[in-house]
Amino acid sequence: MCRHLAYLGPPCDLATLLLHPPHSLLRQSYAPADMRCEAVVNADGFGAGWYPDGAVTPIRYRRAIPIWADPSFAALAGAVHSAAVLAAVRSATIGMPMTELACSPLSSGRWLFSHNGMVTGWPDSMAKLASQLPVTDLLTLEAPTDSALLWALVRHRLVAGESLGQALGTVTAQVLAAAPGSKLNLLVTDGTTLAATAVHHALAVRLDDGAVLVCSEPTGHCAGWQPVPDGHLLTATASTVDITSIPATIAEEP
Ligand code: GLN
Repeated sequence: MCRHLAYLGPPCDLATLLLHPPHSLLRQSYAPADMRCEAVVNADGFGAGWYPDGAVTPIRYRRAIPIWADPSFAALAGAVHSAAVLAAVRSATIGMPMTELACSPLSSGRWLFSHNGMVTGWPDSMAKLASQLPVTDLLTLEAPTDSALLWALVRHRLVAGESLGQALGTVTAQVLAAAPGSKLNLLVTDGTTLAATAVHHALAVRLDDGAVLVCSEPTGHCAGWQPVPDGHLLTATASTVDITSIPATIAEEP
């Protein structure tokens, strides 16, 4: 399974967030601690999205190569500072394409999105849910992957005015009903707030002095990491964290 991370807080450079910690996202790409579904490393691509100072629309850098194999990103990461970052390293689910367009963060307007997991029975299990989306949303999917369809479902709700947490909670429930056993760790931010689900995969959060870090695996050995229990939805700002259960996950076996 892929690994992902989101940060809200004082401006910080991407290298400090993603490359330097002892168990950084970089390290999680080649030595993850908690992989599932027989995946071993996260070498099929990576991406980082950030909001430049004062901007409401994020910028993304994505490549379909391992994060460790991209010296350009290492150089860029030290020079880019942001108060809101979402990044991911990818282990492509079997049968899904290995292209830059399939790498998270996926994005639209002011939002950045990532999915860590897989939808069972793809694609047949999702046909009915997908048919409820506008045809143009389906024609403009970034990639023919489960993650891109999940993002289209979430985005449709955000555009309709739902909060980040509402949209993730509802889509998670709908997908679990259509595709039981799916692994649905979703992560979304608008640059000021974020929401994340822990559904059959690990997630941890650390709130410290006006900065929040949400990550598949804790990035450091420092105190203050709190595991997000399975079947839960997390919403956060740079100074608040709220964790609630997602009722639809109760009957689900991990
Ligand atoms: N299924 C998604 C993809 O193929 C996510 C994969 C993962 O979490 N390992 O991109």
